[in-house]
Amino acid sequence: MVKKNISFIKDCYGCGVCASICPKKIIKLDLNKDGFYEPNLFNEEACIQCGLCLYVCAYNDEKLSVESLQDIKGYAAWSNDEQVRRECTSGGIGFEIGKYLIEQGYKACGVKYNPELNRAEHFVASTIEEYIPSIKSKYLQSYSLSGFTQFNKTNKFFVTGTPCQIDSLRRYIKKLKIEENFVLLDFYCHGVPSMNMWKKYCLSVEKKIGKIRYASWRNKRTRWNKFSSQNNCTEKGNVIPWSDSKTILMCGEKSRDYVSSMSTGDMFFWFFLGDICLNKACYASCKYKQIKSAADIRLGDFWGKKYQNDIKGVNGLLALTNVGKSVVSSLENCTFKREEVSTIVEGQQEVSPKETIFKKYFLKAFASNMPIERIYSLFLVYRLPERLKNKALKVLHLR
Ligand SMILES: Cc1cc2nc3c(=O)[nH]c(=O)nc-3n(C[C@H](O)[C@H](O)[C@H](O)COP(=O)(O)OP(=O)(O)OC[C@H]3O[C@@H](n4cnc5c(N)ncnc54)[C@H](O)[C@@H]3O)c2cc1C
Repeated sequence: MVKKNISFIKDCYGCGVCASICPKKIIKLDLNKDGFYEPNLFNEEACIQCGLCLYVCAYNDEKLSVESLQDIKGYAAWSNDEQVRRECTSGGIGFEIGKYLIEQGYKACGVKYNPELNRAEHFVASTIEEYIPSIKSKYLQSYSLSGFTQFNKTNKFFVTGTPCQIDSLRRYIKKLKIEENFVLLDFYCHGVPSMNMWKKYCLSVEKKIGKIRYASWRNKRTRWNKFSSQNNCTEKGNVIPWSDSKTILMCGEKSRDYVSSMSTGDMFFWFFLGDICLNKACYASCKYKQIKSAADIRLGDFWGKKYQNDIKGVNGLLALTNVGKSVVSSLENCTFKREEVSTIVEGQQEVSPKETIFKKYFLKAFASNMPIERIYSLFLVYRLPERLKNKALKVLHLR
């Protein structure tokens, strides 16, 4: 008999929506051997074969949960609140939408960094203050169940997630007939890196600064002075232009700042953006590039040429549905400039990254006892042909 449950699904998006909808609560999300979340049906005998887990699974469907979208409105956008704009990854519109919807009585479900477990996880906030830890992209695969299991049929929710998380969630709210209670936001997504890599990175940093108490990515300042509360991101130090902000800032219990940036060889960003440790589904099975989305609103960095000299951060925003358009038109204290959709998607990936034959060796290395510094040396060798090519092009250009 064909099984009507997710027991045969492997290497999926790891969105966790199957576990959230299971009426028997017999699905959990575990990290697989490569360091990515995967559903695990731990008590198959109790399964009633209702098929709900498969119904909501975006990985199990070649198509998106929504028809192709018409009349998408594109904007360059940013918060007019200088502090919000400085603390957020791009223009701070993600936070401004959450703030506005909380004021309208919604609960906001976003992602915070949990330093106890060294992971990113979804959580639900009822007040603007509670929502502050959602600020900034955590470039990790989030553990979604800590937030998604709190959805109910009575409250209204605003949810931010990766495009695949949001596509499954759209199926969930349609199935439970609670779509009108939800506003969904996704972002352009490069993919998510292996947690095995992240854990090794943390171990290496913890040797220098002790147990990590705070971690943040894409900072627009080089230092901060308060780290004891994730809620209080009063960063200080020199300003880093937004376009150069591929940085990680951490603080450990020995209370020393750890600052690392891609331009000076940060291992995390090179492994992540070097595409050698993304989830399998981020390569072949990602169907969410450019304008393909099941969300009401899509956000991203405005990577195109038009705002490249803006050092504070600009969002590229697509209002995809009537719900999305209505939210955008209600936002005060933000600047919106209409832009062609083609201008917004400029600089975003057109297709998923290519899975090279070396990827599986790197994933094996991250799962082994090999120190991350040694893996990074191997990575530099792996990138040597590309680096030589880039150098040659530079020299030719200079001539
Ligand atoms: C893994 C990942 C890959 C990305 N890839 C790209 C890309 O290729 N191109 C691009 O333009 N933008 C990408 N982004 C989005 C970008 O970094 C910004 O989040 C976006 O521009 C919104 O910025 P903001 O200033 O409005 O809000 P911010 O203050 O930065 O808010 C970030 C929002 O994202 C949510 N979030 C944070 N981390 C995660 C996570 N791990 N999983 C799910 N939700 C999360 C938070 O809850 C918050 O609502 C990516 C983000 C992530 C997390």
